[in-house]
Amino acid sequence: MEDANCIFCRIVSGKTQARIIGENDNALAFLDAFPLSVGHTLVIPKAHYSKVQDMNRTYSCAVFNLTCELAAILEKTVEVNASTIAIHNGKDAGQEVPHVHIHIVPRSVNDGAGSIHSIFTIRPKLSEEEMDLLSNKMKKSLTI
Ligand code: 5GP
Ligand code: ZN
Repeated sequence: MEDANCIFCRIVSGKTQARIIGENDNALAFLDAFPLSVGHTLVIPKAHYSKVQDMNRTYSCAVFNLTCELAAILEKTVEVNASTIAIHNGKDAGQEVPHVHIHIVPRSVNDGAGSIHSIFTIRPKLSEEEMDLLSNKMKKSLTI
């Protein structure tokens, strides 16, 4: 499953160059071309899926397994003790390339970035009842 207009599909097929770090049967990892920190890496499924919920188990497991393996290697390589692992899941969330990708961004204490909480300056105020309603609604829809 390839999208001819997708830059990440083109990296998978070798039509576009990237600094490939590793792969398994269904996932590929390469350096981000515009790194947020030294070692910033992207892990993608080898097939074109736009959002995480579009992937089947084969791909979601492959992507997450490779991410877990690489996080340790990456932190060791760039000599940090932590990384932020993030996914922009859809255009409204800031996703610029519509092919699932996990960012592994090596982090250090004084790197000037914050936690996920620092992204959200406007936050909802929900009552206990609203939180209960929300969790119950989602619970009912869950099939796995
Ligand atoms: P997004 O904002 O969609 O979550 O992140 C897309 C990421 O892909 C960005 O961090 C950007 O730097 C990276 N990127 C965009 N085009 C290329 C490319 O052609 N090659 C590589 N290696 N990374 C890219
Ligand atoms: Zn693609």
